[in-house]
Amino acid sequence: MNQTKQLFGTNGVRGIVGESMTPGLVLRIGQALGSMRPGTIAIGRDTRTSGPMLVHALKAGLIGTGCRVVDCGVLPTPALQYIVRDRFAAGAMITASHNPPEYNGVKIIERDGTEMGDGEVLALEGRLFRDEYALAGWTGLGDEEEHPELVEQYLSGILAHFPGELGRGMTVAVDPGSGPASLTTSTLLERMGCTVRAINNTPDGTFPGRLPEPTPAGLRSLAELVRETGAAFGVAHDGDADRAVFIDDRGRYVEENREFALIAHHVCRRRQGVIVTPVSTSQLIEDVAAATGCTVRYTQVGSIYVARSMLALLEAGMEVAFGGEGNGGLIYPDHQFCRDGGMTAAMMVAMLSETGRPLSALVDELPPYHFINLRLKTRHAEEIVTMVAAAFPDFSADRTDGVRISKGKTWALVRRSGTEPIIRVMVEAEDRVGAEAMRDEILRLITPLLD
Ligand code: MG
Repeated sequence: MNQTKQLFGTNGVRGIVGESMTPGLVLRIGQALGSMRPGTIAIGRDTRTSGPMLVHALKAGLIGTGCRVVDCGVLPTPALQYIVRDRFAAGAMITASHNPPEYNGVKIIERDGTEMGDGEVLALEGRLFRDEYALAGWTGLGDEEEHPELVEQYLSGILAHFPGELGRGMTVAVDPGSGPASLTTSTLLERMGCTVRAINNTPDGTFPGRLPEPTPAGLRSLAELVRETGAAFGVAHDGDADRAVFIDDRGRYVEENREFALIAHHVCRRRQGVIVTPVSTSQLIEDVAAATGCTVRYTQVGSIYVARSMLALLEAGMEVAFGGEGNGGLIYPDHQFCRDGGMTAAMMVAMLSETGRPLSALVDELPPYHFINLRLKTRHAEEIVTMVAAAFPDFSADRTDGVRISKGKTWALVRRSGTEPIIRVMVEAEDRVGAEAMRDEILRLITPLLD
């Protein structure tokens, strides 16, 4: 599916401002969206310097097709998704998520709060390429209203899941990275009773404290803040706060598959059903499923496939317990069907409050699987996938996305990138020796086809 989309990737369209990302392109996206989803459209943006420029282009396109625009201002993507759900014809978010400051982009949100799926994105792209818009005449143009207060619906929507002040007596450190969660996450955790210490907590599109991607190196100041203040944890978001990553009480970065496993375990103890996740996720999730009476359903890589699979399973009458990716993007079916960084921060408070144990101890109790992640240049990605699928006859092979081969506690995923001449190889085993042996076996096989 991905290879046929030309502008949009798995999470919207993105590019460098002034190069591939221009007001002209966003105007046309607005016109195409307004043509496909006539009615009232909620829009928002992250904190990038190009946000106001692109928001005005988006509005011009939508208003020109007769839409009423409700501008929610600067807010996290999951906040806009929460606001759109069942109340608006669609939504559009100006954001480049974790990309560097010079990037920006657009994520389109459907009326059920999910990101627009592949089929509809192809239809939208088709309109762009053919310049086929339902433009309104002067008597039929739309208009706009500003409603920055709507973000309150998102905050109270999360807080409704956590009655009582679960965070009372807990100090937490927050690093929204100068992104839109500067306006939400501290507020949320304070309302849960936490004492909040924050850095990079003022919206700023120059990102003076750290880049929008929350990496262990970028979060050194947060780790320091956690140690200085004796915080129970530190939480940081990517540039649009649909993801949350954590620093434990000892100042250590919590690898995101471990975060996923801990929170999934907390959620699934009380809620049995299917856990939905991409084929790239650690087998820690299989362990959680086994321990809580759940099962795992795998999807291709991309949060939108996880969200849509969760909805499809529910429609088929199955119980869906939880969903997420091993990158800090977690989906709570009781809340909404998209990744939500604010909800994840709140859930961490609830988990620590209920277990009464330090996050570091919970992390250290997880099995120490060893995970290897490689990106290799090649123009023969498809051949490599086919070759690996055939080369390990005593492993079971899953072709959901590329090929995932597994035997016992060892598995490997080999998949092509949708956007670059790259093959991704992930390996996980019970220990380093096992993982490196598996990696070397795959590399021996595919090296002749690498660039
Ligand atoms: Mg994001």
